[in-house]
Amino acid sequence: MVLKEHELIQIDESFLRQLLENDPEALLGLSIKLTDDLKEAMERLDQNPSNSSKPSGSLAPWDKEVDDDDNNDDDNDESPVDKKSNLQSDSNTNNKEPSDTAEDVDSESGSESEPTTKPRNPGRQPGSQGFGRTQKIAITETQHHHCGGCSACGHDLSTLEKAYTGFQTLNITFGDPETPGISLTNTQHLYYQGTCPNCHLENRSEPQRAPADHFNWEAVGLTEWRLIGSDLAALIVYLSMDMRVTRRKVQQFLRDVLGLKISLGTLQNCIVESARALAPVEQQLIEELRNETVIYADETSHNEAGIPLWLWVFTSASTALFLIGYRTKEIFVNLMDAFKPEFNGYLMTDGYKLYRAYLKRLRCWAHLLRKAKGLQECYSKTSRMQGKQVFDTLSDLIEAVYQAREGPNNGTLSILAQHQERLENLRQVCEVMSSSSHQKTRALGRELLNDWEAIFRVLEYPAWPLTNNEAERALRHWVILRKITQGTRSEQGSRALALFASVFVTCRLRNSSPLLYLRDVIKMRRQGNELPKFPPVPASIAA
Ligand SMILES: [Zn+2]
Repeated sequence: MVLKEHELIQIDESFLRQLLENDPEALLGLSIKLTDDLKEAMERLDQNPSNSSKPSGSLAPWDKEVDDDDNNDDDNDESPVDKKSNLQSDSNTNNKEPSDTAEDVDSESGSESEPTTKPRNPGRQPGSQGFGRTQKIAITETQHHHCGGCSACGHDLSTLEKAYTGFQTLNITFGDPETPGISLTNTQHLYYQGTCPNCHLENRSEPQRAPADHFNWEAVGLTEWRLIGSDLAALIVYLSMDMRVTRRKVQQFLRDVLGLKISLGTLQNCIVESARALAPVEQQLIEELRNETVIYADETSHNEAGIPLWLWVFTSASTALFLIGYRTKEIFVNLMDAFKPEFNGYLMTDGYKLYRAYLKRLRCWAHLLRKAKGLQECYSKTSRMQGKQVFDTLSDLIEAVYQAREGPNNGTLSILAQHQERLENLRQVCEVMSSSSHQKTRALGRELLNDWEAIFRVLEYPAWPLTNNEAERALRHWVILRKITQGTRSEQGSRALALFASVFVTCRLRNSSPLLYLRDVIKMRRQGNELPKFPPVPASIAA
C-alpha cells in the first residue's frame, strides 16, 4: 500500500478539489496510487481459502472440522491487537518528539509483556514490567526513516520533515566461520512527518507491519515496531525449541551471556510472533510433500492444557510437516486430501488402523518383528512356534530385500515371485493364529492378514523402505521436549510448536541452519513481505 492510514484520512472531496485546481497533474498521480491501493486491498480481502483464491489445503486440518458459520469469521481476521496496535494508538494521539531516554523502549516492552485487547494510552503503562525501567542501553546506531516525496503529489519533503516518533530495537549479529563471535546492537529508529507545501497533505513515515492474514493469531502483531530484533528473536526461539531450554533458562542465558534483562512476557511474545511469521510455511511444506514418492507418517501423544492430543509427523527425506490434533480419522483424511491431486506416492506407517484409509501404503516391519519376537517368549507352546515361523519368514524376506537392493537392478525388480510359496505358508499360519485363544497371537495373526498387501508391497519393489525410522527419528526430539515442558498450554501454543517442529526438522534434513532461516522469516514478515523461500533440497538428497 502506498498511502498510509494517516494520510488517507486527510484525503476527502475538498482535498481532491483543491488538488484539481492547483495541480491537476498531481491529481492524476494520486488517482493512480489510490487505484493501485484499492486493488491491493481487494486482493487481500480475497485471501480466505474458502473463496477459492488459495488451495483448500491452506486451511489447517483442525480448522476444517469447524462449521462454515465459524469459518466466515476468517474474512475479518485481523486480531484485536493488530487493529489497536501500539503504533496506531501512539499515532492517533499528540505526536511526541522522540528522545534518547529509555522511555520509548519502556512503552513498547510494557505492551509486549502484557498483550491486551484494550487500546493503550501512549507511554509507560501503569505497573508494566518495563525493560527500559531497569536497564538503559547505549544506542549503537540511529536509523532515519524519511517520508521522501509527498504521497499525494510527489513534492519533495526532505527539508520540511521533523521526527515525530521513534523506538529502539535490540538485536544481535551472529558469528560465522570467518568472523566468529556475537555482538549486540541497540538501534534507534526515527520516523518523520511533514506537511506538503503544495497540496497540504500531512505525510508520515511509519514502521512496516504485516497485513492481516487468515491464520488468526491472537494478540500478536507482526511489525518492525519491536524491542527485540529479528536475529535476537530467532535466537530465543532456537534456544527454546532446538536447544530445549525453558523460558526461565533462556532469560538466564540472555542475562548471563549478553547482559540483557528481558521479561518472560517479552520472551513469550517473541515466540508467538515468530510462530505467526512462520504460519504460511505449512502450505509450502504440503506443496513440497505432494511431489514425494514416499512419505513416512507417525504420531506420538501430546498434552495441551490437560487435553490428550497427538503430535503427528509426515516426513520425506527432505521435508517434514508436523500437526497437533486429535487422533481421529479426520485429521489424517484432511491432510491426505490436502496432498491431492498431485500426491500419488506411498505412505509408510505403523499398524494404526486409521492409516488403512489410504490404499497405497507400506508397513514398518520393525514393529512386526518385535511382536513376532515377543510371541517366541510367551508360555503357549503353539504360540511360540507360530511366533518363530513369522519371525523367521520376515527375517529371511528382509535378507532377500537387502540382496535385491545390492543386485544389478538396485532393488527395482520384484522378488515377490521367488518367495510365493514362503508367503503362502505364512498366510496359512496367520489364519490359524487369527482364531487362537491367546490374545497376542490372535492380534498378530489378524494384523498381518489385514495389512497383508501393505506389508509385502516392498517385495514388488525392494528399493522401498522396510521401516518407519525416518518418522520415528523426526519425532524423537519433540518427545524429549514434551517431557521437559509437559506439553503446551493453549491451542495457539500447540500450533506454534507444530510450526517450529516442521521448520527445524526440515532445515536439518536439508543441512541448513534453522536459526538463519527463522531470522530471515521474522525480518521479511515484519516488513509485510511474503515468507522467504525454504532452503533448497541439497542435490545429494534430491538424487
Ligand atoms: Zn503534496
